[in-house]
This record gives sequence, structure tokens and C-alpha cells, in this order.
Amino acid sequence: MSGSRAATRTVPEIAAEIQSLEYRFGGDGDHVLTRATDLAEQARARGEHPLYLWARLLEANMLRRGGELATAAAICSEANAWAQARQHRPLLARSHQQLSIVHGNLGDIAAGLEHAVRAVEALDDDASPRARGVILLRLADVLAEGGSPDAARTRYGHAEQVAVTAGDVELRMVVLNNLAYAEHLAGNQEQAWEAIQRLRTVTEATGGTLSPDALDTMAMIQIARGRYAEAARIAVANVDAYESAGPDDADGLAEFLLTLAIAQRHLGDHGASQHALDRCAAICEDRELAGVRVRVLEEQAELHAARGDHARAFIVHKRFHAAERELHSQQRDAQARARHAVFETAEARREAERFREQARRDPLTGLPNRRYVDEHLPALLAAGGPTVVALVDLDHFKRVNDLCSHEIGDRVLTVVAGLLTRAARAGGFAARLGGEEFLLVLTGAGTAEAAPALERFRQSVQDHPWSVLTGRLPVTVSVGAHQAMPGDDQTAVLAAADRLLYEAKGSGRNRVCY
Ligand code: GH3
Ligand code: MG
Ligand code: MG
Repeated sequence: MSGSRAATRTVPEIAAEIQSLEYRFGGDGDHVLTRATDLAEQARARGEHPLYLWARLLEANMLRRGGELATAAAICSEANAWAQARQHRPLLARSHQQLSIVHGNLGDIAAGLEHAVRAVEALDDDASPRARGVILLRLADVLAEGGSPDAARTRYGHAEQVAVTAGDVELRMVVLNNLAYAEHLAGNQEQAWEAIQRLRTVTEATGGTLSPDALDTMAMIQIARGRYAEAARIAVANVDAYESAGPDDADGLAEFLLTLAIAQRHLGDHGASQHALDRCAAICEDRELAGVRVRVLEEQAELHAARGDHARAFIVHKRFHAAERELHSQQRDAQARARHAVFETAEARREAERFREQARRDPLTGLPNRRYVDEHLPALLAAGGPTVVALVDLDHFKRVNDLCSHEIGDRVLTVVAGLLTRAARAGGFAARLGGEEFLLVLTGAGTAEAAPALERFRQSVQDHPWSVLTGRLPVTVSVGAHQAMPGDDQTAVLAAADRLLYEAKGSGRNRVCY
């Protein structure tokens, strides 16, 4: 993927590539991560925020698979908050689904379930079958993990139905594999076996072979059904196939070796079992696979017991319990780190909003500033409702500064700002454009309704008890008020109001001109 090719990618091309990479099963994680990072950058450079978040979710999924749960949680939460605020439902569904997996990986099944349910709720009728299937599958998986096999079975059925209707064989195979595993965990070995047989039929019909994961599930089911020789045969074939395929994904190999060790122990082949277990333990050390390592200790205790070495079985069993406790406390730490990362991104978002808000306010009077006006007035005018735009300028304000003080001048400006805010309360807004010049926008009113309001405002400035601030110096304002015509833009409206203000100044000040 050359840089120059990537640089010429159009927005639809970026969207298409993200779509081709997401909701995929398995695949080369490093490659997808690299592509996701690049696509996120390209979407960002083009100002395509939803697409950017979409690519970031893809990135998060790969980071999560690599064990970076806190980072993944932060990215997913950010996308989720954005999608929630904008009601961007596809992104909402996807981010909830990803958050469900992150929480599941952290051992927080309750949070995992809540996000899975919300992901399903956010699914629209026009969601792709793959998206729908994967999201239903996630709900089924987390229900199974949470010990609700009946509820899980129903959702596996829904997900399979989606796959069958869409002709999505790959999705159907994953659903059947997960269903088999869930039934196995729930102790329903015959249902598990039935699901595996269906998986086998579907796989053979497409000319494929069962995935290593499916074969491992199958071996575990056979162990549970007491078919140890059959289980060992499958596990040996799986380990062999795995090793000849290359050393890429040793995590899977550790699982298969453990299954093999268990099958061989049941067969009474203690030597072979110990050998498989030792290899498994070495991989766990090497790869820091804490979860499998705990199960290795459990199996080691079983193996000692099977050999009649109850003293060692007892010692290893104690180590197993200690390791299990340690694993749970690590999970709690990881949960805390993820919560912290999520909190920090939320905090950063609030901080950015505060900053945004501050940049649109005048620090002296607290009124919206010129920038705010530039951002809001055009849309207000384009909406076309009756709108009066009035420019307000203090009369002989220089005298206040000169005869009182600049500080008193500031306080006068603040008081006028307060009177303006009151005048805008009926609808519209007041702003400080700069210096001693203000803007009053009255919405929902033509000149006929605005005139009395503007006159009241002018009078309220004149009548204010200024003497405490300025002594004998009066404070008044001149106002140029223009009713926006359909098609008027901001420049035209402000220029018209400015001409009227000039007229007000020229004809004696302390008045409103229309
Ligand atoms: P006119 O009636 O023609 O508008 O006369 P004016 O004196 O109000 O107009 P001019 O534009 O000559 O002077 C405006 C003065 O407002 C000049 C400037 O020092 C003062 N001013 C601008 N911004 C501030 C501010 O933030 N605080 C204070 N105290 N004075 C300010
Ligand atoms: Mg002035
Ligand atoms: Mg002025």
C-alpha cells in the first residue's frame, strides 16, 4: 500500500475499505491495524468525522485483540458519545457492540450485556445482514458468558437466521461454533454436539474444513461426553495442523495443547498428558497468557491426582486457587484502568467544549462575541423568519473614560450588557461586537413588534441610575435597527443597520432609527 496511492483515496473509497475490514472474523490483526490507522488519518484530513470514528473503532478492535483494553475502551467510548449526541445509529450500534466485547474481556459481564442490548436497539432496518448478525451474536455470547443459556440459545437462533437468509456462510459457521461452545459450557453436551454436527454439515457443503477453534470446541465436547480417544485424536490433529501452519498465533496452540492434555489424562496416558501440559505451560509463560495459565495449574493438579500423587495434587491445587484469585484481581485492575481511560477522554471532551464555549464569549461582559455572531447569525437569517438586527453604540463613551476612568467605563459596558440581555429575553440574543458596540438580534418579530422593545431598551439605559458610577455624566445609546429581508446575508444586514446607526448619531444621539 504505497503512500501516494493512499493519498489519492476518495471518501467513498475510504468508506468501502473500512466496510470491507470491519465485522470480519479472524484475519491478520497487524495488517488491519495498520490500515485502520491510515484510514482514520485520511478521514480526519478530509474532515469526515463519522468516517474517522468508524476507522478508529476498527483500530480499537485490533488494539483490544492485542490486549490494549484501556486504549480500546477510551476510543470506543469517544465514538459512542459522539454517536449518541448525533443519534448516528450505525455508529452507535457498532460502538456499543465493541464496548460490549471490551467489557466482556475485562470480565465485566453486566456492562458487556448492557452494551450488547443497546447495540441491538440501535440496529436499523437498513443495517447490513453482517452487522445485524454480528451484533445478535455478541448478545448471544454475552448471555452465555453470564450464565443464561436459554436466552443465549434464542439469540444464536436469531443470528443464524440472519446468516441463512443473507447466504452468509462464514457468519453462520461462527454462530454455530459459538453456540456449540455455549452449550458445552452450560453442560448441555448433547445440544453442543448437535450444533457441532450442523457446523460440520454446513462446512462440508461449502467444501471447507472445520476451523481450528471449531475442532477444539469439538474435542472439548467429546471429553465431556466421555469420548476421550476421539477427543485426543481431534486434539492431536489440531496441534499438528497448527504447527505446520506456522508459529503465528501461539495463543490458539496453548488452548489446543491443554485440551489434548485433558483428553490424554482421561485416557490414562499420563506421560503424554504431562508432555502436552509442559508445552502449554511454556507458551503461557512466553506469551503471558494468564487465563490459560490458571487452567494449566488446575489440570496439573488433576494429573497429579490421577497418578495417585495426592500430596503434590494438593500443593498445585492451592497454587491454582492463588493464581485464580490473582487473575481476578488483575481483571479488576484492568477494569479500573479502562474506566480511568474512559473518564479521561470524557474529561478531555468536556474541556474542549468549555474551551470552545469560552472562545465565543466576551470576557468583560460575558456576552457572546463577534465569533459567536459569525457562527449563528447566518443560519438564523437563512431560516427566513422575521428578524430585526440592531446595532447599539454608546454615546460619547470616550467622555466616560476620560472624565471618570477606564475602569468605570468597563463597569458601564457591563451594565449596558445586562440591559441588552434583558431586552433579548423575548427571543434572539445580544452580543458584544467590540469596543462599545453591541448587537441585539430579535427573532420572531418584525419592526412593528421590535420597535417598542428597542425603545424600552433605549429608555432603560437612559433611566439607569448612572450617577453612582459616572456622577453627573449621562449614559445613553444610539441604535440602528434593520428588519432582515428574505435573502439578506449577514454583511448586508449589518451594513444596513450601520447606516441607520450613523443616522441616529447624526440626528442627535440617544435614539433608535429604522
Ligand atoms: P460616539 O457617540 O460618536 O459613538 O462617540 P464615542 O466617544 O462613543 O465614540 P468613539 O468611537 O470615538 O470612542 C469609543 C471609545 O470606547 C474609545 C475607547 O477608548 C472606548 N472603549 C473601547 N473599548 C473599551 C473597553 O473595553 N473599555 C473601556 N473602558 N473603553 C473602551
Ligand atoms: Mg460610541
Ligand atoms: Mg463606536
